[in-house]
Amino acid sequence: MIKLDRRDFCRLALAAPVLAQTRLHAQTFSASKYPYFGRDEAYEAFRIIGEGLKIVKIESFTKKSLAVIRIQTDDGSVGYGQISPHDADISSMMLHRKVAKHFLGKDPAHIDDLNDECILANRKFPCTFIYRALSGVDTAIWDLYGKIKNKPVVELLGGRVRPIPAYGSSMSRDITPEDEAARMTALRDSKGFNAFKMKIGKAAGRDQDQWPGRTEKLVPTVRKALGDQIELLADANSCYTPPRAIEIGRMLEDNQFFLFEEPCPYWELEWTAEVANQLKMPVGGGEQDNEMAQWRRMICMNAVDIAQFDIGYLGGFTRALRVARLAHQAGKLCVPHNSGISLVSVFTLHLLAAIPNSKFMEFTIEAPTETARESKAMYAPQLQVTDGSVKMPEGPGWGITINRDWLESATYEKSE
Ligand SMILES: [Mg+2]
Repeated sequence: MIKLDRRDFCRLALAAPVLAQTRLHAQTFSASKYPYFGRDEAYEAFRIIGEGLKIVKIESFTKKSLAVIRIQTDDGSVGYGQISPHDADISSMMLHRKVAKHFLGKDPAHIDDLNDECILANRKFPCTFIYRALSGVDTAIWDLYGKIKNKPVVELLGGRVRPIPAYGSSMSRDITPEDEAARMTALRDSKGFNAFKMKIGKAAGRDQDQWPGRTEKLVPTVRKALGDQIELLADANSCYTPPRAIEIGRMLEDNQFFLFEEPCPYWELEWTAEVANQLKMPVGGGEQDNEMAQWRRMICMNAVDIAQFDIGYLGGFTRALRVARLAHQAGKLCVPHNSGISLVSVFTLHLLAAIPNSKFMEFTIEAPTETARESKAMYAPQLQVTDGSVKMPEGPGWGITINRDWLESATYEKSE
């Protein structure tokens, strides 16, 4: 396997013109030219549909872990979106209390401004549940656009429906190195995965391992079992201080890993930047980060080489496209966080197929959780990995249908 240092990686990952912009990037951000909410002077707000419609109703269908959002315009058009999973009932409450009023009566054509006005209005409440709720409305508007234009969302952005390569993502720290290697080998053979991610260290573990020696055993064991042709990623979930992260990173480099995700507590950008600066391999992160200014800092200071936003945590598809754009301007790839199989996975497919700086999609290899079972019952068609790729749903909007029975069994609420 070819071993790349960070500079080579950037050079190969993206076209040369983008790299030329990279070096300019830090200088371009003078105090007067900072992008506001990720919108710089060159940013062109999305204008997917013509003006003239009005949002008249926002409905939520909520279970504890998942919530589907339906918006309706005054001509009877509808679009479906989804709030970020996990404690979706809390996000649903935020939707009706803190978010819906900033969309009702407004023209859905102005999705950038609607997003920004909602965040500005909630500036005293900078919490995850605002962003999670916003993601429900924003993704419903993109579905509405697709239905009005009779095109998949990806085509509204100039891309096309195509299979997206997936990496098999382990969510488990309780699994032994031997068992992890065995299940990944089996999945390589049965599903054709060409890449896998494993959990290392202990989540927010202050340099501790899940049990002593697990990470040092896991990394070479999986590499040896899978061979040199499989790309490997490691996620430390905010575990390490910089000195320990650099030690672990060197071991990952010795084992030809592709990505070191969230090596340090994610809020300690300077720690992560120090690790990225010391290592040759790419460092990634950002799944929890939902503020555009934080993304600008992360990208400008090269804390991360790879942007790993979560469309649901970040506040929706529009904001994810903005981060992808900032990352692209800086010559960085996007490998979004996507730990489940809900509609966030569908949104992620459309995004990856639409942007120039995508690589592959995270796809869980865990046995179905309660949330995953609900996700399966919620929409069709289900996403499958075949020959290492996920087939994108076709059809207008997100290309999926929401199961009526699921909607009827959920708690209903509306704002109008
Ligand atoms: Mg992660």
